[in-house]
Amino acid sequence: MSDLRESAPSLSLGDEAVPQRRQLVTEIPGPRSRALHERKKAAVADGVGTTLPVYVERAGGGVIVDVDGNSLIDFGSGIAVVNVGNANPRVAARVQAQVAQFTHTCFMVTPYDGYVEVCEALARLTPGDHAKKSALFNSGAEAVENAVKIARVATGRDAVVVFDHAYHGRTNLTMAMTAKSMPYKHGFGPFAGEVYRAPMSYPFREAAPITGEQAAQRAISIIEKQVGADEVACVVIEPIQGEGGFVVPAKGFLPTLAAWCRENGVVFVADEIQTGFARTGSMFACDDEGVVPDLITTAKGIAGGLPLAAVTGRAELMDAVHVGGLGGTYGGNPVACAAALGAIEAIESDHLAERAQHIGEVMLERLHTLAAEHPQIGDVRGRGAMVAIELVTPGTTDPDPAEAGRISAACHQQGVVTLTCGTFGNVLRFLPPLVISDELLTEGLDVIAAAVAGR
Ligand SMILES: *Cc1c(COP(=O)(O)O)cnc(C)c1O
Repeated sequence: MSDLRESAPSLSLGDEAVPQRRQLVTEIPGPRSRALHERKKAAVADGVGTTLPVYVERAGGGVIVDVDGNSLIDFGSGIAVVNVGNANPRVAARVQAQVAQFTHTCFMVTPYDGYVEVCEALARLTPGDHAKKSALFNSGAEAVENAVKIARVATGRDAVVVFDHAYHGRTNLTMAMTAKSMPYKHGFGPFAGEVYRAPMSYPFREAAPITGEQAAQRAISIIEKQVGADEVACVVIEPIQGEGGFVVPAKGFLPTLAAWCRENGVVFVADEIQTGFARTGSMFACDDEGVVPDLITTAKGIAGGLPLAAVTGRAELMDAVHVGGLGGTYGGNPVACAAALGAIEAIESDHLAERAQHIGEVMLERLHTLAAEHPQIGDVRGRGAMVAIELVTPGTTDPDPAEAGRISAACHQQGVVTLTCGTFGNVLRFLPPLVISDELLTEGLDVIAAAVAGR
């Protein structure tokens, strides 16, 4: 492991700005955060929730510093966004230069090279060596919507197939594609039509052991019977599900689905919005089994925190859409593109995919040990720096969301930012920035272990 540590010289980046330590100087949240939270309650719609109402002053490396002077270990990365760390120097320098040059012209009016350069990088980095093109957008949901638009035009078909536990966003079409009702869909219908849901491969929750190939055949059979293969424009899937509970499908599931898509003229869309950009230990999660999607959606980790998203895919599919059919006022904003180029440079130069593998090894080993001691941990899973534990009633697979909430809250009180997820709300997920130091990573895991044991 020490060689991996040496291969990550980036760990000093950002350390100057934000001391890399956990330090609590008030209760959590502190008085300044509480005062700000009162203002939030008065001015911000209640529908916009907050996981942990400590108000941030600065952040970098693996640390978030709040307005009361508390330093918290970041195991959330703003939901898998700041893979390169907050205010990464490479991102900050490029953003500062771009902001001083020009901030917006609209790429559809008078273009600029940053947009083109990001699309060139996406063609190079995404799976497959076929001719690829990209279009840039502002949010993950917008990228997913556009992937569906492209697949529909390219195939002349309507149906969209998604999976149990899927999360694809909060716009009308992506709400239809998202599985979970509360809080994402409840009361917000009617939803877009022609969206069909197939069973996922969720090894921990299979009634009987089933291979990835068998799980894929189960989904394919339902698609063929209930939708019809020649009606399907696209199959959209997260290679490891994010909000749905960090569900890692059994090996063979994704390649079998992708092969079926190829045989049936269906566009295979990998939603790598949460898994992308080195998070899972390779540049994209599809790389793990050599799956080559026809279209791939990216956002979150792409730009070090600035809003940017993309659809990248086979040139002939991308070009099926008429001129003017794709775009948006801000899509591929020059400042966001500058940030993306800085983030991509950091991921590649600082070997952050290898770093994610190392983080995964450390986390999985520790969490497996913890699970052996604490029967409420029903499953430990994940890949790279995308790892979760699923909390259950001991001896069963009955979800225990209260226990997940209790552990997460206990971590927050000790200055570790953790998130929950899952269809049943019983999954505790860990997404540290890939530039976190080994010391902070271990300390964060110590806090989690104490919180689990604290029942
Ligand atoms: C977060 C997420 C989205 C939606 O992205 P937004 O930028 O929040 O619109 C879509 N798909 C996946 C897999 C995500 O994790």
